[in-house]
Amino acid sequence: MAVQQNKVSKSRRNNRRAHDALVAANPNECSNCGELKRPHHVCPSCGHYDDREVVAMADEIDLDDEDAA
Ligand SMILES: [Zn+2]
Repeated sequence: MAVQQNKVSKSRRNNRRAHDALVAANPNECSNCGELKRPHHVCPSCGHYDDREVVAMADEIDLDDEDAA
């Protein structure tokens, strides 16, 4: 097991963590459906990218349907 040679002071630890904050995502509006989506990603709600459908969306997924294969 690796063992540290020197104790890291609270100040040094906190200074290191000063850059660890998470930044919020920067969503764009989908040009097809208007839903918020990640930039440069296929829209998760309509499957469009650059004004054309690249992922076919299922009409409805019923998780409670018992006879679904
Ligand atoms: Zn969309």
